[in-house]
Amino acid sequence: MTRAIDVQGIRIFAKTAPCAHSCRYCLVGQKKIVDVAFPRFVAIVERFIEWRSESGLSNFSILAGVEDSYEFSVEILKALFELQSKIGRNEGSDGIKLGGLKWRSESDMRTWLTERRDMANLKIVHASLAGCGSTHDRWNGREGDFEFLFQTMRTAAEIGLRVHQRLFVVRSTLPVLADLIDKLDEIPVKALRYLSTFVYQGLATRLEEERITEAMRDQLPACLGEISMRAGTQWLSEREWIGEYKDKIDADKPRKLRLDLEITDANIDQLEHMSCEEIVAGLTSKTAKTYAMFPSRSKLLKECADRSNRLIYASLRELEHKWFDRYLIKNPSHLAKDVGHFAA
Ligand code: SF4
Repeated sequence: MTRAIDVQGIRIFAKTAPCAHSCRYCLVGQKKIVDVAFPRFVAIVERFIEWRSESGLSNFSILAGVEDSYEFSVEILKALFELQSKIGRNEGSDGIKLGGLKWRSESDMRTWLTERRDMANLKIVHASLAGCGSTHDRWNGREGDFEFLFQTMRTAAEIGLRVHQRLFVVRSTLPVLADLIDKLDEIPVKALRYLSTFVYQGLATRLEEERITEAMRDQLPACLGEISMRAGTQWLSEREWIGEYKDKIDADKPRKLRLDLEITDANIDQLEHMSCEEIVAGLTSKTAKTYAMFPSRSKLLKECADRSNRLIYASLRELEHKWFDRYLIKNPSHLAKDVGHFAA
């Protein structure tokens, strides 16, 4: 039995904003930056918004973004926030991630943030922290990155922006989490903090030795206090996920997903001459064919699950990716070549 899909919407993106450093846990994996003019990107997204409205597909979700970082002009940020509002998404309409930005001095960064606050209505900055000091720098592939992020969060707070902080809990950050919290507490605002594991995707699929165990999860450092896990996640080991969700896995429901429409310099001319129906139909057919090559979730459970594994995963979907990778190792024929990793 293979996988069916249930299309819930579309994610429209263009990789036009390279990161200034490379994180070793990056979800994106391999990166290829393209040169797509922003107004052309916006025009395609606006066409989809109009099409959704005219077709009465109010539940069809649209995500749109320029990737992989926020290293672009304030004019683009303003337009991007306006686009999110037109789409009807609050999330992403007033915040930026600090990861991947070019290094700037404190005063340049103050000017950079202030400009975005005043011209684009920026309200929130978000930082991902893999420990502190040299531990964070090593994970994020840039010497001094922790100090840069820390200073930027402090500046953001001083000019009235809200600060969100994701704290990675992996084996190498556990010993420095207390130092991290102490340092972050020096920032003069109460940040919205949450805990995260490395998501099993992209480069992080190679970091299984960093995953915490059930025992580590049950004895997290006291300094983490009441900080909760990332919304919508659960920290269970592989054996616990199977114990708790076996019936759901065996039910083999179609996979809910958004279609991926990546706009590149190679396809934009063609996309501009296609209707939204044509684009959606083409992507649906291509994605359905790819998923039809995947084994069903119950087959993956039967053949690839490790019921003794006590490492922690934050979602069933991540675990399914893990099983699929094990499946590819066992069956290295056409699948590995044709579909690579799960896309959605
Ligand atoms: S900043 Fe984000 S997208 Fe850029 S390399 Fe790091 S994890 Fe990847």
